[in-house]
Amino acid sequence: MPQPWIRSGRGRRGALALLAAAAAALVLAGCGNGPTRGERGLKPLVLTTFTVLADMTRQVAGDRVEVASITRPGTEIHGYEPTPGDLKRAAGADLVLENGLDLERWFEQFIDRAEADRATLSDGVTTIPIRGASEYAGKPNPHAWMSTANAEIYIDNIRKALTELDPEGRDEYARRAVDYKSRIRKVGEEVRRDLADLPRAQRALVTCEGAFSYLARDLDLEERYLWPVNADQQGTPRQVADLITFVRDREVPAIFCETTVSDKSQRQVAREAGSRLGGNLYVDSLSKPDGPVPSYLDLLRVDVETIARGLKGDAR
Ligand SMILES: [Zn+2]
Repeated sequence: MPQPWIRSGRGRRGALALLAAAAAALVLAGCGNGPTRGERGLKPLVLTTFTVLADMTRQVAGDRVEVASITRPGTEIHGYEPTPGDLKRAAGADLVLENGLDLERWFEQFIDRAEADRATLSDGVTTIPIRGASEYAGKPNPHAWMSTANAEIYIDNIRKALTELDPEGRDEYARRAVDYKSRIRKVGEEVRRDLADLPRAQRALVTCEGAFSYLARDLDLEERYLWPVNADQQGTPRQVADLITFVRDREVPAIFCETTVSDKSQRQVAREAGSRLGGNLYVDSLSKPDGPVPSYLDLLRVDVETIARGLKGDAR
């Protein structure tokens, strides 16, 4: 059973002071955390649950803290199962940043083991409820970072969490956050321009996961998908049949799937509806650093380029 006093770093530090002798014995036995990173002269370690949040955090943090993502590029993030290595790394973390909105179904269990402070980056965003008749119906769609207006709120939350962790960095975090938010806003305007001339009849975005509700709203696209949230059951015969009908009726020229899931069902939809797969979209994960989408801003640009190319029929 998790102890209430290990839920926050402050509580943990207090508890460790009380249990100093026991902790020292554990360190000698090789199974404790040892001195904190600060005591060892290291930068604070901030873990994020996935790569998009890690990039956002690095943009605000600069060189003052070390930032790492728990899940690696290309990993499915909703039903991820933390490894013993993740838990070991988490034990040395000073702060863990999550998306929230039930995106990371593994997080509560993880944070109980991590014993670090935590912050939820989606706090304060206006959410879009999940449509349809699934078990998720009416719950907030967790992919809120896909709207640039929401991303600016994420950045404010990152700035606050970093400032609390490292008050001496306050001015640098504030300056970097202002600069990064203005770059986010610019890319948001840029991608809206990319699709501004698309005729009404072609404004449909069809994906595997319903992860694009925020982007579709910002870009004025009608959103359809195979399944609402990545889960065990993906691409049921009913979901496939419904989507085939929509794509065929609307004569959608290209449909898409995401990099973190199989596109098998979507290939079937394309085949049977007379459409084509327009490429992979990035949403739950960045690419590796040398791939096409090493940052959140690249993710937005590349996704919208891919969507525009597919819906305008340039790549046919
Ligand atoms: Zn997702």
